Amino acid sequence: MKVLVAVKRVVDFNVNIRVKSDQTGVDTNNVKMSINPFDEVAVEQAVRLKEAGIASEIIVVSVGPEKASETLRTGLAVGADRAILVHTDVVTEPLAVAKVLRAVIDQEKPSLVLLGKQAIDDDCNQTGQMLAGLLGWAQGTSLSGLVTEGQKLKVTREIDTGTQELALSLPAIATVDLRLNDPRHPSLPNIMKAKKKPLDTVTPESLGVDVAPRMTVLKVLPPEQRQAGKMVATVAELAAEMKLALETH
Ligand code: AMP
Repeated sequence: MKVLVAVKRVVDFNVNIRVKSDQTGVDTNNVKMSINPFDEVAVEQAVRLKEAGIASEIIVVSVGPEKASETLRTGLAVGADRAILVHTDVVTEPLAVAKVLRAVIDQEKPSLVLLGKQAIDDDCNQTGQMLAGLLGWAQGTSLSGLVTEGQKLKVTREIDTGTQELALSLPAIATVDLRLNDPRHPSLPNIMKAKKKPLDTVTPESLGVDVAPRMTVLKVLPPEQRQAGKMVATVAELAAEMKLALETH
């Protein structure tokens, strides 16, 4: 089966986020960017399906600026066969990305589409669900387990009360959680080979999709700084401090 994986270029998870002084967004100037960690897990899962003889071809797709091609090359180095960059300099919202992915899916006709549970930049956790809604396909979200059984997928979802098992008919949308697998690091020879794998560039317009934002960001603020803690010497002092805190709140 053909597997399509959506990968997003985001600020690396080790970077300390800086908000722009005009509060319009996050400063990405001279900041290390990487593949969204959840999408790394999605690519790894696709490669494992290929190694198991279940997936026949893996296509990685990214919607974003020219530099998102670096993210696609990472997916190719891990084992994807080809890549599609849907080039736009617009900051895309989940619905726009879902519409773009639907257009790519209409052309490529994959049986399985893997996405991350969420992108760590906006933490929306929406794109996979919107895509499944647009296509009318089965969906399994926040997966920590995924096995194929003939024309079905058996998936395990991470939910608040524990785990949930679902059987999905193919074609299906699956969004993956970090527990699903431990992604491999691409080897140097594979990074070199990835440079020669096909990477096609298209635009949202050529796919007939309008990606203009529907939301206006009013302002972006850093989280409030935590107040410094206070050391106390005795339990009695602690109790007195707690009493005072309760009275003053
Ligand atoms: P979100 O709904 O923004 O939290 O993103 C969930 C998942 O959708 C991500 O983990 C990606 O797999 C996919 N996704 C979101 N934005 C993009 C994008 N610009 N390009 C490719 N995939 C994306």
